[in-house]
Amino acid sequence: LEPAYSFLIRVRLPGGVVTPKQWLQMDEISEQYANHTLKLTTRQAFQLHGVIKSNLKKTIQGINTALLDTIAACGDVNRNVMSHPNPSESELHAEVYETARRISEHLLPSTTAYHEIWLDQKLIADSKKDVEPIYGDRYLPRKFKIAIAIPPYNDSDVFSQDLGFIAIVGNNRIIGYNVAVGGGMGTTFGMPETYPRLAEVIGFCTPEQVIDVAEKVVLVQRDNGNRQNRKISRLKYTIDRLGIEAFKAELYNYLGYELQEAKPYAFTRNGDRLGWKKGTDSKWSLSLFVEGGRVADRNGFNLKSALREVAQHINGQFILTGNQNLIIANVTADEKNTVGEILKNNGVLPGEISGLRQNSIACVALNTCSLAFAEAERYLPSLVSKIESILNQHDLFQEEIVIRMTGCPNGCGRPYLAEIGFVGKSEGHYNLYLGGNFNGTRLNTLYKETLTEDDILAELDPIIADYATNRNTGEKFGDFVIRKQYVNEIVKGSDFRH
Ligand code: SF4
Repeated sequence: LEPAYSFLIRVRLPGGVVTPKQWLQMDEISEQYANHTLKLTTRQAFQLHGVIKSNLKKTIQGINTALLDTIAACGDVNRNVMSHPNPSESELHAEVYETARRISEHLLPSTTAYHEIWLDQKLIADSKKDVEPIYGDRYLPRKFKIAIAIPPYNDSDVFSQDLGFIAIVGNNRIIGYNVAVGGGMGTTFGMPETYPRLAEVIGFCTPEQVIDVAEKVVLVQRDNGNRQNRKISRLKYTIDRLGIEAFKAELYNYLGYELQEAKPYAFTRNGDRLGWKKGTDSKWSLSLFVEGGRVADRNGFNLKSALREVAQHINGQFILTGNQNLIIANVTADEKNTVGEILKNNGVLPGEISGLRQNSIACVALNTCSLAFAEAERYLPSLVSKIESILNQHDLFQEEIVIRMTGCPNGCGRPYLAEIGFVGKSEGHYNLYLGGNFNGTRLNTLYKETLTEDDILAELDPIIADYATNRNTGEKFGDFVIRKQYVNEIVKGSDFRH
């Protein structure tokens, strides 16, 4: 007998888009082989949890039958490419989604091992023939993350990525992309040489250059990244070690041309805009809040059943957002009514959701992630309820505030960009970070360490009261705590304290 191993499986899904048929297939796989739930991740991917070892191969084969795969969803390669989550919003959004999909395809490893191992294809791997044109014989020093955003919405948290593309629109078409490099969230407690970092904009490329730029940034990291110490091997550390000008010079060598000067842009917010919206083609999309990204039937809130039924009745798309929510996209006016009825009948159209809860993210953490020190997904909802009580006392229930929690400093839920961020230190204890901003362009700062729930509420209560009384018109919570010097702004990632 061997231990009862169980696995997490992540499905690659560039831009987070699946058809209703694929949704139904993933739903069925989760019922048959996983823990009867689907997790929508912060990178627009599915995760299946609780897949026991003997079902691993069948699960991956089922995923491939749905014309999806798990290739490069983990490992030292380019991961799932994120995009603005609603390609049906306009032709521009569709173009950006298509670009995300093309980048993902271009940067896929070309090894045949995946198909041989999981799909029972004939063994043809041969170290001489199985050439990786991009990854070479050693792959990357560490994982690599790419996202595209369309201002004014930073819904893919473009500055948290190794490589971000900011779409620039002119005359109602995409004229190109600003290129941002060197973002990343992960840190390690007790290692001050690790830190979160915002990507910095280094120039502009045309739509025709975008794949080439993505490839060459990956190659510069492949050839210059730290291969001695995985803790400091992400692109952000490579750039800080080389210096941004030296990095750019190296990149231009690989490209054979220079990037143009970056174009002006402005982000007004991150997170998702919930509710129904009409696209430019008169089709409708519903951005649905999914707490912690967990699609399940629980306590009369039958989200999983409801979405299964929706998938059986529409021809549009299901789109996973980078904020763990779901868009039921591209539906006709008739289908819109049907979707509304199904959600209502399953208790899924909840009452009013606070501005805090709408902007919450929690990584999976305990008891699924082996790296977690503390709870996140299973705990944040109840903590939010308690913070909501404080907000209610000050008439701030509607105020949108970005709150994020992770079970360890790896930062999968991007906690270092939140206005209120929590990082688990040990069971029931969290570091509290304040002062990220609402559009995801500023890192937050450590405010207090190793807090219990009582500590957290005691710390936040007077700050929220101060905010209610003394904020300027329209001033966001993260900006207020900086102005009132609860914390100082972190300008460089390397100034970050754990
Ligand atoms: Fe696991 Fe840490 Fe990532 Fe959360 S942030 S999913 S605990 S590795």
